[in-house]
Amino acid sequence: MGSFGFDFSAEERRVIWDYLVEKLERHYSDHSGVRVAPPLDPEAVRDYCSVDFNNPVSPQDAIDYVTAGLDQYIVHTSHPGYYGLFNPRPSFAGIMADVVTAVYNPQMAAWSHSPFAVEAENYVIREIGRKFGYEPDSIDGTFTNAGAEANHTALLMALTRGVPGFAENGLSVSEHKPVIYVSQESHHSFVKAAGLSGMGRRSVRNISVGPSFAMDAGDLRRQVIKDIAAGYKPVMVVSTLGTTGMGAIDPVKEIDIVAREFGMWHHADAAWGGAVAFSSRYRHLIEGIELADSITFDAHKWLSVPMAAGMLITRHPSALLETFRISADYMPKEGKEFEIVDPFTHSIQWSRRFAGLKVFMSLLIYSWDGIERVINSQFETGILLKRKLEDSGWKIYNDTPLPIVNFGLAGLEGNQEKATRFCREVTDSGKVWISVYNTSGIGTLRACITNYNTDEKDLDELLKTLGDVRITMGD
Ligand SMILES: *Cc1c(COP(=O)(O)O)cnc(C)c1O
Repeated sequence: MGSFGFDFSAEERRVIWDYLVEKLERHYSDHSGVRVAPPLDPEAVRDYCSVDFNNPVSPQDAIDYVTAGLDQYIVHTSHPGYYGLFNPRPSFAGIMADVVTAVYNPQMAAWSHSPFAVEAENYVIREIGRKFGYEPDSIDGTFTNAGAEANHTALLMALTRGVPGFAENGLSVSEHKPVIYVSQESHHSFVKAAGLSGMGRRSVRNISVGPSFAMDAGDLRRQVIKDIAAGYKPVMVVSTLGTTGMGAIDPVKEIDIVAREFGMWHHADAAWGGAVAFSSRYRHLIEGIELADSITFDAHKWLSVPMAAGMLITRHPSALLETFRISADYMPKEGKEFEIVDPFTHSIQWSRRFAGLKVFMSLLIYSWDGIERVINSQFETGILLKRKLEDSGWKIYNDTPLPIVNFGLAGLEGNQEKATRFCREVTDSGKVWISVYNTSGIGTLRACITNYNTDEKDLDELLKTLGDVRITMGD
């Protein structure tokens, strides 16, 4: 036993592990009687968290306290009635990997500290890059905390390539103010990244969308020409492949033509939708993604691993190094004589956890074939959901083939406030969780198949809840 008691004894640990596993297993295997979403009461939660750190409790009591807090006060994304914002039910392989990572705690900053962990991540990045259609020899990338960081990384690469001297001297050296292009329906992490990079949030141009809510490439070209005439420097355009709100898929090939014509970095934000690359039946939906200079993909979405496992993958092997290279005297140098890359010279983060193990172990245990079967089945559940909604008289606003439905009623159309109240009534039932998505003045209800266990009887529960609220609120 360690002299401070941090480790507990081996016998004690065995008892505590068993206790912990029993608790977690109960949560993981049975959601009956659990509210999908808690009632929101900040006072009550703050009260619950205000414990006395001067009086230690037993690990078992601590486990009870924390799991009871989680049971009551979080949205349960692992519940089959959660039709939410791409947060998955975490798969068992992914959960195991996170436990292993916590125990071994590899430090990912320097290659020489964690050769297995760094190379396992590199291998996963290359395998996924190949699935996206990149040439095997050109693939490089990094795990990120999540999609927002991957998008930020792409912007920094675009600025490094597009504004000579950017990394050393910043934007002041740029004769022309840089601008980037995204669709109106894109993820707002680009706005944040533009602010953080020093370009300023106003450097983000929102390009209009067509009837399928996908970017209008003609409008993109017109805006670029206008900006160049006004003295701006277009540095990046983003194709979103599976928008967060409606699952729209931008015309990546048309966008690529504009990117090449004007020398812009072309980034594909496929944080959720990128997973269709793993299905031979659906990969055509994102055909052309291999043209993009870089890709954002989140394994903690449609690959169903626990958060956080974002990835930035690129077909330019030196671009990350050009962007992030730095030398630090205190970092270990043991790897110097080998042809290796220290991750801290190659990414935004420095000390970092072994996020890639979740993906590595999922593929090892489930294989590509297992992943493909889950993705195909979620597509089918999405098709079934759309059919059931239509059969019950709901209007559907999006036409994406991805398993995400924006729906509503005549009485909700154009009434975003009523749609929000309707949604609140639905989630207050505790049985299901959906969200509201406002676009083009329409308040739509949004349901996405994010849990691989959601099946037809869960869909029927959703339809029933929707029907009940429709009766209480009137159409
Ligand atoms: C989820 C998402 C993001 C942001 O990713 P995080 O993992 O939440 O940081 C960016 N773009 C798209 C299209 C997304 O769906």
